[in-house]
Amino acid sequence: MTRETFINKQSEAEKQIRQHCISFGLIYAVWLAMLIAIPCLLAFAYCSFYFHTKFVARAVIAGELIFCVLAILVANHFYKRNVLRWVRYALKCPSCRRSLVFLLRWQVEEIAEGRCPHCQETIVDS
Ligand SMILES: [Zn+2]
Repeated sequence: MTRETFINKQSEAEKQIRQHCISFGLIYAVWLAMLIAIPCLLAFAYCSFYFHTKFVARAVIAGELIFCVLAILVANHFYKRNVLRWVRYALKCPSCRRSLVFLLRWQVEEIAEGRCPHCQETIVDS
């Protein structure tokens, strides 16, 4: 494979993966927010039952817990969808089958020398 062909295939694969995707950063942010929110809400729920607060306060806490669980389920759905798009569209090394898209700087330098950054096999003709 020539360098131009590789760059064209790589940019096309990255474009296909990015299309209709929510970024992993947003998904991780939702997971982190829920990781903080759920223990706090469980503590509030425990306190509301311990101090016998009004039904409305308990219902609000229960509603927020349900919202948190739904947010996690939606984030998991988009995470799985992103991973499946990555597996489906990513340009892969012919020998080790690992992904050659969204590379880090040291990996781009390996590609510039014509080698796979994972297995050092020659993939781009110099
Ligand atoms: Zn490889």
